[in-house]
Amino acid sequence: MSGFVIKGWCPDAWRPMMAGDGLLVRVRPPLARLAAHQVEGLCEAANAHGNGQIDLTARANLQLRGATERSWPPMVEALRALGLVDPDPVREARGAILINPDWREGDDSHGIATELRTRLTDLPDLPSKIGFAIDAGPTPMLMEAPADFRIERGADGDLLLRADGRAAGMRVTRRTAADALIRLAHWFVESEGAAAGRMARHTADLPDWASGDAVPSAGGPPMRPGAHPIGAVYGLPFGRIGASALAAFVRSQGCAVRLTPWRLLIAEGLAPRPATGMVLDDAPILHVDACVGAPACPQASVETRDLAARLAPLIEGRLHVSGCAKGCARARAADWVLTGREGAFDLARHARAGAAPLHTGLSPERAVALLGAC
Ligand code: SF4
Repeated sequence: MSGFVIKGWCPDAWRPMMAGDGLLVRVRPPLARLAAHQVEGLCEAANAHGNGQIDLTARANLQLRGATERSWPPMVEALRALGLVDPDPVREARGAILINPDWREGDDSHGIATELRTRLTDLPDLPSKIGFAIDAGPTPMLMEAPADFRIERGADGDLLLRADGRAAGMRVTRRTAADALIRLAHWFVESEGAAAGRMARHTADLPDWASGDAVPSAGGPPMRPGAHPIGAVYGLPFGRIGASALAAFVRSQGCAVRLTPWRLLIAEGLAPRPATGMVLDDAPILHVDACVGAPACPQASVETRDLAARLAPLIEGRLHVSGCAKGCARARAADWVLTGREGAFDLARHARAGAAPLHTGLSPERAVALLGAC
């Protein structure tokens, strides 16, 4: 077993996490949307108080990197003034709400997520990794995205509340959805779900009132870079973008931005046009997952992203290059996975990071030679 450290909590703006390149400050924009002035302000804060690097996460959050003990307070104050951080740390901690990124003003997802945001203080204290998915568009989009309590569109067109890990859920309506979700979160705590940490690992029988046979509708096709009814969809290689590039893009286009959990960013109302640091087609680099690796992460003994970029055009299928067995960049299996261990890589097939390897002790050059020949 490798020696990665499980932190056991998720950082947020009020509880930043120390990484190898400084404090990491996570921002959860309401409804995963930033108006143009919020993007510009956030980028200004990232440059002024961090190292100017921004990550888009698998929970559709933004992470500002490289803050220090001294620069974190003014960074958070700037984000708070922009309406991107709740002034109440308790509400901020409870606001892990994913929403289908193609929501429209006034639709079910928008209505339910907005109500849930106004009722965060009705939720109990939950383990920090617990999150919610409001996925009430015509077909669910977020079934593979990390969440514990899910509002989804059912196969019959009605809405349902489903506990993660269960195949079916209870029927709800737009009016009752937030209430039912909050009640289920209280049941989770009262039934000692905190010991399991996540809903999918909590094996207690659901209460009768929350049990049901409503199954979610089949998911639609995945979102891709390019044109979309909401706007132009851009891929961010490794989920990373420089604050200056993002600010310049938004300043020149004057557009709001929506965040997705797939390392895609939507420029609202825009037709696709080239943009620095972002990809508009299904480029090989978007089929590769790689965490920050060394030196930005203290758990890593290997560099990851340069190697992943070298390998991207050589690989058929999905590649995951992970700095250690924790596998932050991808929770699910990939076709090929390279896991860093003691300064070299282990290679596994159809696996998650840290899985039993086919080859061990690979240098980056040996990994390129091996995978390039596959
Ligand atoms: S997977 Fe990568 S980012 Fe996550 S702890 Fe390991 S080295 Fe760090």
